[in-house]
Amino acid sequence: MAVQLLDREKKTGKIDFTQLLSGVSAGDYVFQTTPYRQQIEEAARLLNQADAVLIGAGAGLSTAAGLSYGGKRFTDNFGEFIEKYGSAYMTDMYSAGFYPFPSEEARWGYWSKHAWLNRVEPKGLPLYRTVYELVKEKPHFVLTTNVDHQFWKAGFVDEDIFATQGDYGEIQCSRGCHDRVYDGTALFYRMNLERKDCLVPTELVPRCPVCGGRMAMHLRCDPYFVEDERWNEAAARYEAFLKGHRRERVLLLELGVGFNTPAIIRFPFEQMMRENKDWTLVRLNLDEAAVPESFGKRAIGIGADIARGIEDIQVKGRCVKDEG
Ligand SMILES: [Zn+2]
Repeated sequence: MAVQLLDREKKTGKIDFTQLLSGVSAGDYVFQTTPYRQQIEEAARLLNQADAVLIGAGAGLSTAAGLSYGGKRFTDNFGEFIEKYGSAYMTDMYSAGFYPFPSEEARWGYWSKHAWLNRVEPKGLPLYRTVYELVKEKPHFVLTTNVDHQFWKAGFVDEDIFATQGDYGEIQCSRGCHDRVYDGTALFYRMNLERKDCLVPTELVPRCPVCGGRMAMHLRCDPYFVEDERWNEAAARYEAFLKGHRRERVLLLELGVGFNTPAIIRFPFEQMMRENKDWTLVRLNLDEAAVPESFGKRAIGIGADIARGIEDIQVKGRCVKDEG
């Protein structure tokens, strides 16, 4: 499902909003009123009963894990950028990425820092490691819009991950003139060492080896996003996972997926729930945990801090297991 939508997006260069509606009237969405403890117990039970787990992870998971893009983490690390470009534009790491940098030296000056801080430097964060601990004994697969590489660092293997929106550690031709992406981590390391006044030296600015044009971060932010061989293989493995477990009890564990790009995880997960009556959904989301009421007891929306929720499910899960 998700893959079809992505293909369509690629062809048209934009998301077709008529395809986003998940067929649920807004009135069907409910925030659950059962006490938090009961929600956690239910979630642990669904996890325990599941034959396989499909994780869907969005920005909220990384924020909860500690990779927040605003506040002190931003001002502590981007002080000279805020001073140079103005605090009106440099409000957080998300907005700052859209700044119209005046030169390639300035653009890579910013992005090398952003990539270093959010992708290259951090180790596997405890929350991601706990997610891995939760699912590692069952067949599992990760579908994520996150580009910070945390699932790999937490112990998940390449075969079990489909990161649809790219990776901060990779670069590509800005016009997508050829279907290949390049490891940027060594380049970012050098840029970090040699950056002065927010600019990287001209000789470090990458050029496309095929067309000679500008390079860009490998992020889905325009129609030129490169879906290379590895991306397509991951997409195929995702499809295979869905097919292979169709007749089993699959738990959809949705973590921090909001309404920024709901067509990739959130809406397809709801559609899968409608198509597979034995599948279940645990949706952890600080503000947007509402689930369709028609799913009944098959779905739980936990509106709490994801780090706390995951930890509580893990603790409760041990008890559920012991009870058999
Ligand atoms: Zn090119």
